[in-house]
Amino acid sequence: MTGAVLVLNAGSSSLKVAVYGADGGKRRAAATVSGLGQGRPQVAVKGDCAPLPEPPRLPVTDLTVWLLELLSLRTGSIAAVGHRIVHGGRHFDTPVVLDDAAMAALEDLVPLAPLHEPHNLNGVIAAREIWPGAMQVGCFDTAFHRTQPELAQRFALPREMHDDGLVRYGFHGLSYQHIAEVLPDHLGAAAKGRVIVAHLGNGASMCAMRNRRSIATTMGMTALDGLMMGTRSGAIDPGLVLHLIEARGMSPAEAGDLLYHRSGLLGVSGISADLRVLEASADPAAEEAQALFALRAQQAIGGLAAVLGGLDALVFTGGIGQNSAAMRARICDGMNWIGIDLDQSLNRAGGPVLHRQTARVPILALPTDEESVIARATNALLAARTENAR
Ligand code: ADP
Repeated sequence: MTGAVLVLNAGSSSLKVAVYGADGGKRRAAATVSGLGQGRPQVAVKGDCAPLPEPPRLPVTDLTVWLLELLSLRTGSIAAVGHRIVHGGRHFDTPVVLDDAAMAALEDLVPLAPLHEPHNLNGVIAAREIWPGAMQVGCFDTAFHRTQPELAQRFALPREMHDDGLVRYGFHGLSYQHIAEVLPDHLGAAAKGRVIVAHLGNGASMCAMRNRRSIATTMGMTALDGLMMGTRSGAIDPGLVLHLIEARGMSPAEAGDLLYHRSGLLGVSGISADLRVLEASADPAAEEAQALFALRAQQAIGGLAAVLGGLDALVFTGGIGQNSAAMRARICDGMNWIGIDLDQSLNRAGGPVLHRQTARVPILALPTDEESVIARATNALLAARTENAR
């Protein structure tokens, strides 16, 4: 097996690419183009990747091609490309080779994730054109949650709607998988216990794990459900959505824009979706936004702990979970009733261990690494194909 493995995460406002060695082990280089569709995009590179030129002003799809072509000149032979795909529906519960049949099945899922899935699939189309000989692999954010019991996946809607795919899929699965994989390094045998992982970034969700498998999660059919987020409302009275449309005359698109892009930390503070900006602000509305974010997180921990029948560990990850000592302290405040006992100075030091020595429930802050999960899965499929060809 020769050639590098490329990991591609083509999102709505950013494009992240990472290059891994042929063994899939070590990341050699990474590049991110952010701010797509918001004026001038910016490029950042990590590792031994030479600086990239200023990105041209192009539509997102063309920018994807621009970045991939540039990288193809630099990375030499590419054996496989692993793609992050937000929605795998009910059937994609493991990484798959993206052949024509898989792509057609994924096209059918676009209505379930209209803001993300088209960008992901465009990334696949662009990569196929640039590296026609490379294996294309899809890794799904929903797949980790396919282990949820049937009941946890059900909405209280008529049965035929459930059968028609209106179910709680859950997201951030690649992040949860990474945490599940490293958990024994930090917790030993307790990793198999009742663990809540809080992935708190611009998008935010929590996952209840038992035996390092998902048994419940806060996101539902879409990535709008559950916790309050950077610009998303999280769970909201469904009657309120009807009210917006029926009584306030909003179009479905306007209601969608409100709930996805103008709510959350941004909407409540009226200042920013970026927690760092709110933490630096003296405005009472910034304070209220942070307090509500924490309250919603506490409610979710209580709910997931009830599903788990208790709590053996709490793990924070994502940009906020890993970096914001202040938000972790807010969330843990008053949660002693469930065994959560944060050590304030360990918390300020950033972890990974955050709990008091005498605490019953370990609390950790861990970095997530969705790209390495995709690189390993892509390599495994590549190795299996090589083995089959023998
Ligand atoms: P995404 O979901 O887009 O991957 P991230 O996981 O990078 O987002 O999280 C972005 C969020 O993390 C932003 O709200 C940002 O303010 C917050 N964040 C990052 N670093 C810090 C920090 N040092 N302190 C507080 N918040 C932080």
